[in-house]
Amino acid sequence: MEKTLTLSVMEKDQSKIIREQAPRSATREHSVPLYLTSSFIFDSAEQGRAIFAEEEDGMVYSRYANPNTAEFINKVCIMEEAEAGLAFSSGMAAVFASFAAFIRQGDHIVSARALFGSTHQLLTQLFPRWGVTHTYVDAVDNDAWERAIQPNTKIVFLESPSNPGLELADLAFLGSLKEKYPHVIFAIDNCFATPYLQKPLQYGFDLSIHSATKYMDGQGRVLGGVIVGKQDLIDQLMFFIRHTGPAMSPFNAWVLSKSLDTLSLRMDRHCSNALALANVLEKHTEIVDVKYPFLPSHPQYELATKQMKAGGGIVTFEVKGGAARAFRFLDALQMILYTSNLGDARSIATHPGSTTHSKLTEKERLNLGIKPGSVRLSVGIEDKDDIIADILQALEASK
Ligand SMILES: *Cc1c(COP(=O)(O)O)cnc(C)c1O
Repeated sequence: MEKTLTLSVMEKDQSKIIREQAPRSATREHSVPLYLTSSFIFDSAEQGRAIFAEEEDGMVYSRYANPNTAEFINKVCIMEEAEAGLAFSSGMAAVFASFAAFIRQGDHIVSARALFGSTHQLLTQLFPRWGVTHTYVDAVDNDAWERAIQPNTKIVFLESPSNPGLELADLAFLGSLKEKYPHVIFAIDNCFATPYLQKPLQYGFDLSIHSATKYMDGQGRVLGGVIVGKQDLIDQLMFFIRHTGPAMSPFNAWVLSKSLDTLSLRMDRHCSNALALANVLEKHTEIVDVKYPFLPSHPQYELATKQMKAGGGIVTFEVKGGAARAFRFLDALQMILYTSNLGDARSIATHPGSTTHSKLTEKERLNLGIKPGSVRLSVGIEDKDDIIADILQALEASK
């Protein structure tokens, strides 16, 4: 008989995450197979009827659910201590669904100003067409959140830490605001922190959203998104997924589920490397300013250490000499590659002003702390000395 592990012998998250697996097939495989099937057969007409009537659990069609996506979702639910979750084809499919499943004409969204570029486009270009308005607030200003809430506010949305300014929203404070406005959905894009460093649902947030493309994959291979949170909201999201089709592919889920087994190990290394680099840059004469949540010089250092396990893998710094110097610096890097992704095992450098945030006006960029000389570094899991050496030689060569 197959030995089934009981959760009672596994108290800690990491054990549960690694042992979470789609039910073994008759082949008795050790590692989970890839379920590339669009639909699932019914043993009888009666079973087909019962599953469709939701009297019996069972997979129907991979647009709704698949063993690989279910396994991936279960692991993220364990990590975030969530009631339920859903997987999406990309981070943006998840972000879009977190709004689109709930809003209707005349609704209002309160959002942090510092947002992932495409989320900003949703709020400013797409939703106004559908009669949905928004108010932007500075996430660090606690009073601004409540001032922005209107009688027709449906959703409060934010990212923390923000990209690329690494400013934090006070999650405990926002949790208390949720208590005061229980009918408003509080949603956070938790992609930069990952569920390992930050668990927003514990503060009362309704939904936590991730681009799984970043740290969850961690190796720059596949796109994916996931939302976890309260059961009743996930049920409403499920209706949206079933009938609009942004489901994650089983292949991507299979890759991402395996990646989650090592997320905590990778994040520990991303964070210790990032802190080491931030400490070196802070003392460097060619650097104007360094942002990293776990540097004591960060204006929200206390808050960061309260709500995050470590500072994350992103360091944002401003080089002396503006955009021209930043370009020379990026071109002088030897090991670190220039690409707009982040959260990869390999360190990545980006110039936000001319790429990810180039569509904003100069004033909007300065509002987000993006200077012409700002560089965003996604610190990888190489040896920290090699990362630091590459940065130092490129600073020297670009003088
Ligand atoms: C990358 C990213 C997204 C979008 O994710 P995709 O998987 O690229 O669609 C959304 N939010 C944040 C914070 C991101 O970094």
